[in-house]
Amino acid sequence: MNLELSEEQEAVRRLARDFVEREVVPHAAAWDRAEEVDRGIVEKLGEVGFLGLTVDEEYGGSGGDHLAYCLVTEELGRGDSSVRGIVSVSLGLVAKTVAAWGSEEQKRTWLPGLTSGASVGCFGLTEPGTGSDAGHLTTRAVRDGAGDYVINGTKMFITNGTWADVVLLFARSTDAPGHKGVTAFLVPTDTPGLTRRTVHGKLGLRGQATAELVLEDVRVPASAILGEEGKGFSVAMSALAKGRMSVAAGCVGIAQAALDAAVRYAGEREQFGKSIARHQLVQELLSDIAVDVDAARLLTWRVADLIDRGQPFAVESSKAKLFASEAAVRAANNALQVFGGYGYIDEYPVGKLLRDARVMTLYEGTSQIQKLVIGRALTGVSAF
Ligand code: FAD
Repeated sequence: MNLELSEEQEAVRRLARDFVEREVVPHAAAWDRAEEVDRGIVEKLGEVGFLGLTVDEEYGGSGGDHLAYCLVTEELGRGDSSVRGIVSVSLGLVAKTVAAWGSEEQKRTWLPGLTSGASVGCFGLTEPGTGSDAGHLTTRAVRDGAGDYVINGTKMFITNGTWADVVLLFARSTDAPGHKGVTAFLVPTDTPGLTRRTVHGKLGLRGQATAELVLEDVRVPASAILGEEGKGFSVAMSALAKGRMSVAAGCVGIAQAALDAAVRYAGEREQFGKSIARHQLVQELLSDIAVDVDAARLLTWRVADLIDRGQPFAVESSKAKLFASEAAVRAANNALQVFGGYGYIDEYPVGKLLRDARVMTLYEGTSQIQKLVIGRALTGVSAF
């Protein structure tokens, strides 16, 4: 693996860094306090091409490889994880999955809007009663006499839920046991019977529109199925395998932001008659963060490299997500320690980094679930 970025990748990173400094960083704290990111950011992300990365230009995408996608995702995560999540879900979990599994008609219907920012996508897998055990989801899609599907159920914790124009929804459509009966549907959110409620009171990612979706007799045509009937769990797992790389890249961004803030503050703050950067135990905190940043970044880039070379990557993606999410929490917590009491108030950015980092060990598979994925690959035995 060549660890040098190409000129094109460097240019993408610079573009992302400038965009984040201009459009995200100045607003992140206010969006967090207001519990709402300015929706205008979606259009701006679309204009600069960040919502179309890795998607074919034929469908409105901006092309590029997965390393470029990681670089952009890292910069967005450095600026504001709420904004990063909008991209990771609308592009990473929805548009990229439509591009991979969709019919020509589905690609032409959904991709130009999702990649330009004219529309937003959300990913509806989790339910109130099934999180880690997603294969046993209970939302039901029943085929009626006209060949349509009538869907009933509730989805919980859906990122972009109240903003989205389309939900990639997973429902049980056959009586086959476990995940074998699950089918993926592309459901427009203005379909009658679909209602949404904002989930308030989150510890972090406060700017993000997280929602509960309730489906009561939501009717969709058979052409709404993404992939094949009964193969929806494979659609979900393939989306999450790439999605975990995106979460990991966002976590690298959090850890980098924690490092930058802590190094700056350590150089400015004086105690015991000298800069705290001169105290050895403060340097220990800083070096622990720095090692976490580098290790998380390298694991994440390896996943991108594997995907771009067409190699298997799912287990490596779980490793990167597991390490990077735990590293982001550690890094933000260490940075908060460097800030002392000032880290605990929202005048400084590290408290938000810690709150935002915390969910990364929970969603798209908790740390325990990533360990089971890795353990299964090591032993050949499923311990789920
Ligand atoms: P549970 O599955 O109930 O887990 C509880 C605890 O038990 C955890 O510690 C878990 O690790 C542990 N556990 C469970 N099973 C095992 C096992 N076999 N072995 C060992 N330990 C186990 N979902 C979506 O579909 N779309 C989204 O866009 C989305 N966005 C989210 C945004 C936020 C802010 C949050 C908080 C969640 C989001 N989720 C989303 C849901 C998220 O993916 C789930 O919360 C996650 O999968 C965990 O499920 P759960 O909360 O039901 O916890």
